Amino acid sequence: MAADCIFCKIVAGEIPADVVAESEHTIAFRDINPKAPVHVLVVPKVHERDAASLASAEPAVAAELLAQTRVVASQEGYEDYNLVFNTGENAGQTVFHAHVHVLAGVDVSKLFL
Ligand code: 5GP
Ligand code: ZN
Repeated sequence: MAADCIFCKIVAGEIPADVVAESEHTIAFRDINPKAPVHVLVVPKVHERDAASLASAEPAVAAELLAQTRVVASQEGYEDYNLVFNTGENAGQTVFHAHVHVLAGVDVSKLFL
């Protein structure tokens, strides 16, 4: 656990979160500031600064994280969904504990992609 990491604190149960799914190495909870009808964050229980670092350090956990996105979307009633990995401060990353945004019910015509 990294000191002063908000997601480590959520993983440890030290601060509350609306948890929607859990697997051996990941936890999924609703984003506090949802940007879509479904906006869930899937995070590894282990602390890594971003998803690419997680993939380098713990590839099996990164794969589990990716697989969990479908579990979450499906649980929320969506077969189709978008994933966002903000990586680095200049790309909008604000929490430096690896996570993926699972977004569903988004009007894709409004995405910048
Ligand atoms: P980033 O911009 O780093 O990819 O996304 C971090 C996300 O974490 C943001 O969408 C933000 O709303 C969410 N977030 C920040 N603090 C908390 C918190 O304490 N609880 C929850 N559930 N979400 C948080
Ligand atoms: Zn952390």
